[in-house]
Parts: sequence; C-alpha cells; structure tokens
Amino acid sequence: MADSVFHKDFKATPWWWEWWHPSNELSQDPPLKTDVLVVGAGYGGLSTALELGRSGVEVTVLERGDFGVGASTRNGGGVSGGTTMGKGFSGKGVGGDPEAWKKVMARMLSDAADSLTQVETVIQREGIECYWRMNGRFSGAYTPRHFAEQQAKVATYNEKAALGTYMVPRERQREEIASDYYYGGMVVERTGQLHPALYYGGLLKAAHRAGARLCANCDAEKIERKSGGGFRVLTSKGPIEAREVVIATNGYTTELTPTLRRKLVPVASHIIATEELPEDLVQSLIPKNRVVSDTKRVLCYYRQSPDNKRVIFGGRARFTQVTPEVSAPVLHGYMLERWPQLKGVKVTHAWTGNVAFAFDFLPHMGVEQGMHYLMACNGSGVAMMSYLGYQTARKIAGGSNAPVNAFDGQDFPTVPFYNGNPEWVLPFVGAWYRTRDWWDRVRA
Ligand SMILES: Cc1cc2nc3c(=O)[nH]c(=O)nc-3n(C[C@H](O)[C@H](O)[C@H](O)COP(=O)(O)OP(=O)(O)OC[C@H]3O[C@@H](n4cnc5c(N)ncnc54)[C@H](O)[C@@H]3O)c2cc1C
Repeated sequence: MADSVFHKDFKATPWWWEWWHPSNELSQDPPLKTDVLVVGAGYGGLSTALELGRSGVEVTVLERGDFGVGASTRNGGGVSGGTTMGKGFSGKGVGGDPEAWKKVMARMLSDAADSLTQVETVIQREGIECYWRMNGRFSGAYTPRHFAEQQAKVATYNEKAALGTYMVPRERQREEIASDYYYGGMVVERTGQLHPALYYGGLLKAAHRAGARLCANCDAEKIERKSGGGFRVLTSKGPIEAREVVIATNGYTTELTPTLRRKLVPVASHIIATEELPEDLVQSLIPKNRVVSDTKRVLCYYRQSPDNKRVIFGGRARFTQVTPEVSAPVLHGYMLERWPQLKGVKVTHAWTGNVAFAFDFLPHMGVEQGMHYLMACNGSGVAMMSYLGYQTARKIAGGSNAPVNAFDGQDFPTVPFYNGNPEWVLPFVGAWYRTRDWWDRVRA
C-alpha cells in the first residue's frame, strides 16, 4: 500500500481476529418452534441466551452472518461501569421534573456499575480466558473547561456508583500517560479491560453449554404476531414459531424492526493496531496500563494490547463506514498528536464496526409491539449490552412485567422525519463536531 502508515503485512480485519475469528462452528439448524427466539448474536443476544439456558428456558439465537461478525468482536475492549453513560444525563426531566430525573439518573449509575460486576461474574463463573483486568480508565480533559466539568461529576460517580473516581491535574498527568496533550483528566479506578473477541468466543461457548440453540447464517427476515399469542418469524432458513422474541441487533438493526430502527442512529467507529513495539516503549505510554479516552466530541479511545506489545487506537475517524485507506491515516494522525514519539510506527490492522446511539444517549431495554429489545450502546456496550441481555433473560424467565432495572421501559425517543438511515447527515454531524472541538481548543 502506497500510504506510509501501513505495514507491509497490513490486514483490513480486527487484530483481535488473529486470536478468535468469527465462525459458525457451534451452529445448528434452526428449529420449527422455540420458546424464546433471540435475533442477533452479539454480547446482548448471547448473554440473554446464556441466562435463559441456565434458567432452563428453551432458547434459540439467530445470527445473520457467522457468529461474531457484529461489533462484539471489533470493539476496543474497554469495560466501563457507567461514566461513559454519564454523557446521557442531559435529561430534560421525568415529566418535566428535574428532581425525579435526578433519582432516575442515580439508579441508572448504580445499575451501570452493576453491569461491570455482571461481566466479571460471568467471566469468572464460565472460566472465560480473555485477559480481563480491572486497571482503571484515564479520561483526558481536552480543555480546562472539560476538566472542571469532569471534576463536578466526581462526587456523584463515587456516591452513586462507588467508581473510585478522582482528578489528576495537568502537572501530574504523566503519571497516567506519556503525553502533554490533555489538560489533566479523570481516573476511574473501577473500569476494566478485556480481549473482546476472546470474551465473545467464551460467551458463545457458555451459551452453547447452557443449552441454547445457536444458528449462524440465519437471517430473520420478517416477524409476524400470531392471533392467539406468540410470533412467527420468517428466516432465510425457514419459519420459526416462538412464544417470545428478543431483538438484540444494536448498530445492525434493520427494517425487520422499523419502529426500533427509527430510535437508533448507527455510527461507525474505527480502530487501528500498531506493529509490535519495544517493551519499554509500550510500558511508558500508559504506565498504569489503563484504558484511555478523552472528552472530545470526536473522541478517541486507546490502550495497550492485552499481550502488552502494541497500541490499539480507536476513534471516530469518520462517522460512516469507510475503508482503512481513509480511516487508518486519520487515526494514526490522532495517535501522533497524543504521542509524537510514535512517529514512523506502522499500522498492521485497521477495521471498523457499528455502534448505535439513542437520541437521549442512554441505553434501553423494554418491550415494543410485544417483543423484548435491548439496544443503544452509545459506543460503550461491552458491559452494558451483556448486562441488559442478562436482565432481559431474568425478566422473561421470571415472567415479570415490572421494570427490572433503571433502563427498562424508559421512554425511548425518536425525532420527527427520521427514518433510521442517517447516512447522508452523519458526514455533516462529524464535520460540525470536529469544528466545535477545534474551536473549544482554540479558546482553551
Ligand atoms: C470499533 C468499535 C469500538 C468499540 N469500543 C468499545 C469499547 O472499548 N468499550 C465498550 O464498552 N464498547 C465498545 N464498542 C461498542 C460495543 O462493541 C457494542 O456496544 C457491543 O458489542 C454491542 O453488542 P450487541 O450484542 O448489542 O450488538 P452486536 O455485537 O453488534 O451484535 C448484533 C448482531 O445482530 C446481527 N443481526 C442484525 N440483524 C439481524 C437479523 N435480521 N437476523 C439475524 N441477525 C441479525 C448482526 O449481524 C450482529 O452480529 C465499540 C464498538 C465498535 C464498533
């Protein structure tokens, strides 16, 4: 490849796939009938299936591609217990009541912290080898104003979710990152990291062991409600009857569920992996081996690889799907802005995947037209989608109609005239956000 950022052995696939590759190995033929049918086999769908299987409920999962083609084997592997979700707390209030909204927010923060515990519990119980470690996150402040905004949230995070959050001023920033790019930042001790594809592979096996029927390359094409209750789902491999349906398609939601699609904005996120670097150089970049992210609107997130040999660097190089020829040089540039010492380092892998934003920037689960759904990871779904899958399963197994957590059954808004396809508008949103980031920094 002509562009100098690319290594001679460059691959346009996730570096994670060198360890665990999407596969249909555990796939079975779809049944004619099942108790619960889950559409989408990412963390959300598999976590639902795992818990239903453990509860003795008959469950089938459909995945339109090989298992693992979605975001769940493509992400950065940062596992947040709630602070990234905090961006959604611009809530206008429950019925216009800010006090009521504050209470909901507090419950959401606490439940989001539970999502981290849930991931840890499943990893340990199922013996999933995925380089799980709780090393914390450093969130770099892009401007002094962002630093002050972070500081204002510390007490809430600690009080409501015991996240072990504290501020690091700019003069001590090099204890966290070998860079002067930020104006200090916030440490969140209770943040984990893992190898996303190994975690996915482990969840897949665990769901299989628990008795879930897993069907790869089986596209759910149409969902019909039966008059006597239940559903008939037409798939690329024939019809399936089900008592309950769970939609877990997140950033890959289609016209199969048009109402849900109108509530989501699918946005591309992009990642590069560098070539192997000298051990002491990798160690020096993030001395405490934390996950790093920043407060920019067009944010970047990055970390050491689990084997501590390279940098995994992600961000919104573009808001839409673009080829690595476009995204990799942009991300490489962002990386050098933070770490000029990496000049000349080559990119061995670059890839992309879809996240799903809600218009209120909050995760959601609930029931729509009789079907359960869990979606809207807002870019941070390793823990949250796993947790919402588990919670959806508990709800189905327990036969409960009452909300089981703070995300369950909340208003899930859309906007007028939005048809679920933001392709044409996203480049403008991206350009607008980049301009505002630039202006924020100029004023800093
Ligand atoms: C590049 C990138 C970086 C990220 N980094 C992080 C991070 O560091 N930390 C973090 O917490 N989160 C991160 N995320 C987000 C995280 O990966 C997602 O929130 C999470 O994987 C979503 O899981 P899911 O099960 O809801 O959806 P997915 O894993 O996307 O699975 C949905 C599945 O549904 C399938 N599907 C869709 N329609 C149908 C149909 N009709 N029939 C059958 N199957 C269907 C799709 O093929 C897909 O496999 C990142 C995402 C990306 C893309």
